[in-house]
Amino acid sequence: MEKKYILALDQGTTSSRAIIYDHAGKIMSMAQKEFRQFFPKPGFVEHDPMEIYSSQISVAAEALAQLDIHDNVIAAIGITNQRETTIVWNRKTGKPVYNAIVWQDRRTAAYCDALKSRGLQNEITEKTGLEIDAYFSATKVKWILDNVSGARKAAENGELAFGTVDSWLMWNLSNGKAHLTDVSNASRTMLFNIHTLHWDNDLLKLFDIPASMLPEVKPNSTHFTDTSGLIFSTKLPITGVAGDQQAALFGQMCVHQGMAKNTYGTGCFIMLNTGTKPVRSNNRMLSTVAWQLNNQTTYALEGSVFVGGAVIQWLRDGIKFIKSADLSEKLALSVKDTNGVFFVPAFTGLGAPYWNQDARGMLYGITRGTSRAHITRAALEAIAYQSYDVIKAMQQDADFVIENLRVDGGAAANNFLMQMQADVLQTNVQRPVVLESTSLGAAYFAGLAVGFWKDTAEIESQWQVEKTFTPVKSSHDVEKGIVSWHDAIARVLYQNH
Ligand code: ADP
Repeated sequence: MEKKYILALDQGTTSSRAIIYDHAGKIMSMAQKEFRQFFPKPGFVEHDPMEIYSSQISVAAEALAQLDIHDNVIAAIGITNQRETTIVWNRKTGKPVYNAIVWQDRRTAAYCDALKSRGLQNEITEKTGLEIDAYFSATKVKWILDNVSGARKAAENGELAFGTVDSWLMWNLSNGKAHLTDVSNASRTMLFNIHTLHWDNDLLKLFDIPASMLPEVKPNSTHFTDTSGLIFSTKLPITGVAGDQQAALFGQMCVHQGMAKNTYGTGCFIMLNTGTKPVRSNNRMLSTVAWQLNNQTTYALEGSVFVGGAVIQWLRDGIKFIKSADLSEKLALSVKDTNGVFFVPAFTGLGAPYWNQDARGMLYGITRGTSRAHITRAALEAIAYQSYDVIKAMQQDADFVIENLRVDGGAAANNFLMQMQADVLQTNVQRPVVLESTSLGAAYFAGLAVGFWKDTAEIESQWQVEKTFTPVKSSHDVEKGIVSWHDAIARVLYQNH
């Protein structure tokens, strides 16, 4: 039977998706299922691990059924997942001892502050590339061991397993045979040394986590395990695994140093391939493993904009200012500039490179001549300026110039925004044909391991750009806007002085 397809499992924060790709990297079928979010207390965010798994299996079956194919034509499975989300389960029963604690969960924030005040930031960043934060898995595992009755004792007896969502899926898909993860997911736990590529004993001691709980760490494109006979009629090999942002960077084929991607979703998620050495950021960006492929480790810098597409969502749903998100493009293009209006959407504070939690949003420069179009345009420009600030800071950290920016996510559909981004960065912005970079990256990792694709060069040659936005304004022309944007930022920061 000809193995014609790769099945990618994309386990996200709000939904599980399954996408089947052919050899050309074309989407053949796709299924998606949302699952429940639990908010048991303020700041707590949980998922039911059983529901994560069952939703993932059901969409895989649905994607196969849609295409009307038998699973024996699947060459391999790739997995990509919401990162940092933490699951602890009993090895014997396979049952989770607690709900999955989601990356967004803030329950361990006070403990993280205490670690910072003990002066541990430098050591932890040095080893893991991360900032001490409740976001990452380490303090979530510790919370479960400290708060779930009997958990610590069971862990010390070797009865419990910890895993991020990739581990949990592989454990279940293999019917309890495999307890594995990959380097990209491991590097988001705050327990993994990104230089040695091993779990770090000092950190395990610090967080009081028994080493026996941890999964074995593998490169991204290799034989992880096979699905058990219980799931599919054929035993299918799982041969590609990566956390969502790293998978997206690979799916965008940003495989050379200096290539970067920006995902314009609710927030903007920017990743820059920094080559074979981790870069220590001076701007509190995260330094992380991008992937390990063919015995070579590639690193990335990661930064984000808290409010990206969400500013348009707010204009649409929050204050009912525009009817639809895509109308923002037409409105923005109906005027030649913002007429002096600047919009700093610091709804939840300012992130990189300003890092001010208390900052709040500001609409500045309003006159009698200000119209809905000017304000909408200023909102879109703010997405581009905020991304510019993060990318410039990354460039400074890495000490090289980003040659082009590849884009995806809902707001990447906005041509005005993409052109603005190309202009302010003075860089080409490339929007690919397949915008599903995350699942595509997982499929690529899986396919490479089984010879479905020969090498990354083959994939690069078939990877297609839908539209390239080249700068039409000179750097001199955009300079004034950038200076005024920074002036607006300074005013926001001054308010919180
Ligand atoms: P997420 O994965 O974070 O839910 P998506 O990638 O689905 O986000 O993108 C949705 C976001 O993009 C929303 O915040 C929405 O306001 C914004 N968006 C969608 N279409 C456009 C558009 N044409 N112009 C500007 N913003 C848009």
